[in-house]
Amino acid sequence: MNKQDFYDRFKRLLENTKERYELDTLHDALIMWFGEYYLSLDPDDIKERIVNDRCAEGVDAVLIDQINYNLFFVQAKTVENFNNTKNNLSETAIKSTLAGIEFLLKSDYRVEEVKCNQVKAKFHLLKIPTQKVAIIWINLPQTFRLGEELEIELTYRGKPEGPLSYINKEGAELDIYGLWYPLTGLEDFFTARQRLVVPKGQRSLGNGKLVEVIKGKQNDTYIFESKTPLVVMNFASSDFKYSSKEVGNKKFEFFYSPSYSKFISQIKAELPGILKFYQEKFGDYDHNLLRVIEIQSPNQSAYSSLLNVIIHSSFLDSLSKEKDLVYQEKRLYHLLAHEVSHQWWGNQAAPKVLNGGWWLVEGLAEYSSLLALENKYGEEELKRTVIKSELKGYQDYLKKHEDKALNIASFFEGYSGSLFYYKGSLVFHMLRYLVGQEDFEQILRLYFERFCFKFADIDDFQKICEEICQKDLDWFFNQWLRSSKKLDFKVWSIKLKRDSKDNVTTEVTIKNLGEVVWQAPVEVLIETEKGKEIRKWELKKKINKIELETTSLVKSITLDPNFWLLDFNRDNNYLSVRREI
Ligand SMILES: [Zn+2]
Repeated sequence: MNKQDFYDRFKRLLENTKERYELDTLHDALIMWFGEYYLSLDPDDIKERIVNDRCAEGVDAVLIDQINYNLFFVQAKTVENFNNTKNNLSETAIKSTLAGIEFLLKSDYRVEEVKCNQVKAKFHLLKIPTQKVAIIWINLPQTFRLGEELEIELTYRGKPEGPLSYINKEGAELDIYGLWYPLTGLEDFFTARQRLVVPKGQRSLGNGKLVEVIKGKQNDTYIFESKTPLVVMNFASSDFKYSSKEVGNKKFEFFYSPSYSKFISQIKAELPGILKFYQEKFGDYDHNLLRVIEIQSPNQSAYSSLLNVIIHSSFLDSLSKEKDLVYQEKRLYHLLAHEVSHQWWGNQAAPKVLNGGWWLVEGLAEYSSLLALENKYGEEELKRTVIKSELKGYQDYLKKHEDKALNIASFFEGYSGSLFYYKGSLVFHMLRYLVGQEDFEQILRLYFERFCFKFADIDDFQKICEEICQKDLDWFFNQWLRSSKKLDFKVWSIKLKRDSKDNVTTEVTIKNLGEVVWQAPVEVLIETEKGKEIRKWELKKKINKIELETTSLVKSITLDPNFWLLDFNRDNNYLSVRREI
């Protein structure tokens, strides 16, 4: 049977039994699940095995991350009746769907054995050719339920290299990055207690509060506990340098390697201000601790889990090569602000996997960082970032990849994840313009209040917007989030007309070369011989003609001068009269 036949047949089988699923590259999934010889297996047999496999219990979908070859097992159920009243967290409704767990490890290391609660567990190893790390996916031997303790014992061998390797007193070796970080949990919250055994001298970090450190002869045991529900879990271990700072009732902790002290001082100075700004805008950060952890990793990025902001060393390496020190400072601020906002977006108000849930995580986190940049550096910095970072990112993306509506784009497949950042943040920017500053802030606050420890998608967010501004916003959400249509206004012509009494009027023609119909007034900058003024025009048609009355001669017209709209081509937004007559 060839791959395509197999794929089609398997898909049909799944369609008959599953309500919601998304499987695009089943091949990769099956290799990870059954090994390379899955083609010789009978599809009915495979289905049987998936259904009967205890690890697949209740799995409604399998999502595949094509970049990292991760598999995500998804349950369509969400947590019902979760009571998020302050300091009164009810855990009874939290269920765990944890069926597997993944780790990153240096790729030339050999995994010898994996045990979960002392029972041998099945695992799959996937090497990523372009990276030095491999992914180990461990199938948990039993469905892991709320309140149960899970101990994972991973035995592996490899040769340490370079100054970043760690050797404990027994001579056992940790990988070059000095950490493992599993990600778990999708569309579910869980509480966790982590017991981490690390070689003496290392400091361990997990989710929630450090509740106990047990000192041993060769190893130390760190116990972390999070009573607040988590949506992802991770941990790190290294010989971190440590410092802390207290502002009001909040404690800020910093874990890093000495070579990045300079950046850590900037982070230390900025962090309390960013947190305070977001608390005012989005709602209270109901925890008294926030950590920033620098880890040795080749991925030039950062991520967040509850209480933790994790920054990869390679991002800081690239930052240190930046010659323009002002820009360097802003880039770090931008990244930090993005990650801190994930304490709200992603870790507390969480995404539904389908229907654009990730727009409310990455799009909103990115836009939050723009709000923070504006607050710190002013309006011009906001405009600069909108154009130079977000719009440019979106345009560059479309040079190589196909556009997709955000309600159907998958965060985990191919490259479309980056659409959620670039286009996603620009849609929030337009929404702010459309509903006005006050309503926009109310929307964000109500969204957080209502979806804290719950899962949301585009529809949920639209309802909140409509509730706040008491308007039907279908036209906005349908065009910008449920389609990949574009908007492209062009100042087509400016004609000066003289009547018999020598009075001059101006006729301006604006064309919309895109498919989006913008149904709200658009800012227009009119430059006359006497000065500049901003007016608002309705530009709902493909071709709009405006009779303009001014007290002096019009010199030029600029559409959307403050960069509010996602106008795909901004080069045609300006026209001066001199060229026309
Ligand atoms: Zn993010």
